[in-house]
Amino acid sequence: MFLPRMLTPARKGPAANAIALAGNQLVCTSAPRTPQPDRSLILLRSAYVNGRYVPGDRAVVHIEDRGYQFSDGVYEVCEVRDGCIIDERRHMARLARSLDELRIAMPMSASALGIVLRECLRRNRVRDGILYLQITRGVARRDHAFPAPGTKPSVVVTARSMDFAANERTAAEGIAVITLPDNRWERVDIKSVSLLPNVLAKQAAREQGAKEAWFVDRHGHVTEGSSSNAWIVSKEGKVVTRPAGKGILRGITRGVLIDVIAAHGLELEERPFTTEEAYGAREAFLTSASQLVLPVVRIDDRPIGNGAPGSIATALRAKFHQHAERT
Ligand code: PMP
Repeated sequence: MFLPRMLTPARKGPAANAIALAGNQLVCTSAPRTPQPDRSLILLRSAYVNGRYVPGDRAVVHIEDRGYQFSDGVYEVCEVRDGCIIDERRHMARLARSLDELRIAMPMSASALGIVLRECLRRNRVRDGILYLQITRGVARRDHAFPAPGTKPSVVVTARSMDFAANERTAAEGIAVITLPDNRWERVDIKSVSLLPNVLAKQAAREQGAKEAWFVDRHGHVTEGSSSNAWIVSKEGKVVTRPAGKGILRGITRGVLIDVIAAHGLELEERPFTTEEAYGAREAFLTSASQLVLPVVRIDDRPIGNGAPGSIATALRAKFHQHAERT
């Protein structure tokens, strides 16, 4: 049907009415709701965007940024505690590796980046929370192949406070996890911003009343969570996690926890484990920079152990910061 131009929805601002087609009649619907800004963007006082610090609700990137067009970029998330960055050295080493794998040049020196990270913390008054850092291949006319040499990578840094007391309460209760087929690409060892399968998996978990989704490979082995590494304590009392090959991201928290496990005389087995083994495990837990060591008490609606956070997971969580670096 031909719609005269003047009948298309008016664009006069929030008070304008919308016109919709009902059957073969044009009807005037109620006034559209004024879009509400996301409060968390307002609460972000300052973001670093390509050399400038700007208020969170005005921090924007170009529409031709390759991160936006192709998810052609990488990121890091670091924990911040008592005003210190936790395991900065390891996060920066992983960042350098991710950039290298994608052949994106590091856009600034490590010391300049360190100054930006701290300035973001200061401007956002973050003592306890997380730092988010993203580097993309930069802005260029849309074309899948790499842009001309010399295209400057884009850098974004944000910092947010987190309610660590709420995290402790979650850890004391433990969380539920679901399992899903791992449908990601083979290079999940690169911390790329290309996270669509992870987004869909996390949403599926939320819709089933769980906090995390564990991916399972075609052999029935758990790979990792949508935003965390996966662990169990076997029937024999050994701490088990998948080896850090190409099937998982080499979590920084995972690496530090391996040191904690050794220091406390626990036995570690880096080997794949199946969902069946996880269902029957003594304990299960996950690790990530923002969640640290988080006990898992249900997997696919089956209670793990006695259905409460396990003693090993709880002890490892308590000991974690004795082994992490603070800078
Ligand atoms: N795996 C995936 C897929 C993740 O997104 C994360 C969190 N970034 C992790 C593992 C845990 O890594 P880290 O301990 O460095 O936060």
